[in-house]
Amino acid sequence: LALPQNVGCWQGYNDQLEHLLQRRTGLRNGLRTAVQQHELYLAYQPKVDLESNQVCGVEALLRWDSPVYGHVSPAEFIPLAEASGEILGVGAWVIQEAVAALVRWRCRGDVDDAFSVAVNVAPLQLAQPDFAQRLMQCVSAAGLPPHCLEIEVTESGLMQDMELALRQLQALSQAGFRVAIDDFGTGYSSLAYLKKLPVSVLKIDRAFIRELDTNVADQKLTETVIGMAGLFGFSTVAEGVEHYAQLKLLKDMKCDVIQGFIFAPPLKEAVLLKIIKQPMCNAVTV
Ligand code: C2E
Ligand code: MG
Ligand code: MG
Ligand code: MG
Repeated sequence: LALPQNVGCWQGYNDQLEHLLQRRTGLRNGLRTAVQQHELYLAYQPKVDLESNQVCGVEALLRWDSPVYGHVSPAEFIPLAEASGEILGVGAWVIQEAVAALVRWRCRGDVDDAFSVAVNVAPLQLAQPDFAQRLMQCVSAAGLPPHCLEIEVTESGLMQDMELALRQLQALSQAGFRVAIDDFGTGYSSLAYLKKLPVSVLKIDRAFIRELDTNVADQKLTETVIGMAGLFGFSTVAEGVEHYAQLKLLKDMKCDVIQGFIFAPPLKEAVLLKIIKQPMCNAVTV
């Protein structure tokens, strides 16, 4: 939540602050009923495999159409849901919904067996001792093989209760789930603990991709992360790829998978299913 800026006087500052606090309270209350009132839905952003030039999976991203506030960005409401604990209910709904969607797509032959759906898991979810257990039950009850569900956790999600988090990820990856470190490079992962992590994917944060074509330091960092991922046996996903020049560099660096507006933004299901089987021409021509 950004504090008001450029406010000429104390009263103006007070008014804006009051407005922001009211909005926060309103959003927090709204979130409590958002699931039951069907105000949430998932958007799916394609991930493109640079070897096959095909969509190899999607990331499920939460969307909220509030009757009071209109469309609210997850960047605004996810932190509130984490702080209030509401993320537990919301996060469970996300997993249920993503699993149901994948079952639909597989039944209709829209996707093949290798196609995966990634869901974001908040630190608080990972801190539930039975999280891994319940996820496994949910996926097996749906008749899905575990390799088609990917769990995205952030470095901060791991830091909170490292031992518990590691145990859960261990259980999940042993059961065949894919685990990704999201926003990689923005947290505090040390090499020492990277080696212990039961993960299979590093998602390189958009912060390193944004100026990739002009910033030599970002190029070196990205190249190093991709090389290191290879040593550990992790695959790499670059997030937030928007331009051809970034795509070209990442392909030369042997990044495995690309996610970004250059191919598609997060899409509603109906739109996703229209493009899912087409080869991605941007990827082909690099
Ligand atoms: P994230 O997991 O790192 O997701 C990637 C974000 O980057 C998404 O923002 C996506 O729309 C955006 N993005 C993808 N490609 C591009 C691009 O080429 N350019 C730009 N400018 N942006 C791009 P979104 O959907 O607003 O989500 C923001 C964050 O909210 C997510 O970051 C994630 O941390 C959180 N979030 C979203 N859905 C969930 C959820 O179901 N559960 C939890 N716990 N967090 C979620
Ligand atoms: Mg993510
Ligand atoms: Mg990310
Ligand atoms: Mg990010």
